Amino acid sequence: NRKPLIAGNWKMNNTVSEAVVLAQEISNGFEKDWAELVDVCVCPPSVDLKAVRGVFLFDHTKVAVGAQNVYFEPKGAFTGEISVDMLVEIGCEYCIIGHSERRELFGETNEGVNLKAKALIAGHVKPIVCVGESLAVRDEGTYLDFVRAQVRAAFAGIGAAEAADAVVAYEPIWAIGTGRTATPEQAEEVCAAIRATLAELFGEEVAEGMRVLYGGSMNEGNAALLLAMPDIDGGLIGGASLKAVSFLDIVKAAL
Ligand code: 13P
Repeated sequence: NRKPLIAGNWKMNNTVSEAVVLAQEISNGFEKDWAELVDVCVCPPSVDLKAVRGVFLFDHTKVAVGAQNVYFEPKGAFTGEISVDMLVEIGCEYCIIGHSERRELFGETNEGVNLKAKALIAGHVKPIVCVGESLAVRDEGTYLDFVRAQVRAAFAGIGAAEAADAVVAYEPIWAIGTGRTATPEQAEEVCAAIRATLAELFGEEVAEGMRVLYGGSMNEGNAALLLAMPDIDGGLIGGASLKAVSFLDIVKAAL
C-alpha cells in the first residue's frame, strides 16, 4: 500500500532552457490519471529548479521537484551553498542527499548527510537519502552491513514521526551509469535489509510506510521487474530520466 515514487536525478545536465523543454515534454506525455497512482519527482540542477517548478505548478501532472543537494546551516557565510529555506520558497518537495557522487567526488560524509536530513525534515522537505556500496565492498560480501550502517548514520538522532516521510534510495555504486543494473533479487535483498534497519530504528509500522527506492542503470527495459519486488517502492533514475519518453515509460511501469 506504499505509493510508488519515481524520481529523476538529472545530475549536472540541462541549462534552464533545456530543462524547461524536458519538463514540458514530460508534462505533455503524462496521462491524467497517473498522479493518483504514482508520485513523480524530477531533480534538476539548482539553477533550473524554479523554472521547472513553474512548468509543473499549474499542469495536470502533480510532478514534484527536488534538489540534488542542500546545506544544513540556515544562512550565512557559506559560499556556494543553498539552504533549506531557499528550496522551500521555490516549491521543492524533495531533496537528494548523500548521493555516491557527492560522497566520492565532494567529500560528503555520513555525519554531513545526517545534518542535512535533520535540516530538511525541520523544513518539511522530504530527504531522499542515498546509500549503496562500492564494487569492492560488494565483492567482500559485507555490503549489507555497510548499507545498514549508512542508514543508521543518516537517521541518527531522528525520531520515528520525523522520519516517516523520508525516502531511502539504494544505489549500488557499481550499477550507477554502468549499464550493469542490479538484478531484482540483488536489489530486493538490500532494500529489504534497509527496511529491516528502518524498523529497528522507527518501529515496524513506520518502516512499512517508508519508501525505499532502487537506483542504478534503471531504465524502461528493466524497471517493471525491479518495481515488482516487495521492498522496492520506486526508482531513482539518472541517465534514463533525461529523455522524456524513457522517463515516462518508467513511470508507466510503476502504475
Ligand atoms: P543511472 O540511472 O544513470 O545509472 O544513475 C543512477 C543514479 O545515480 C541516480 O541518482
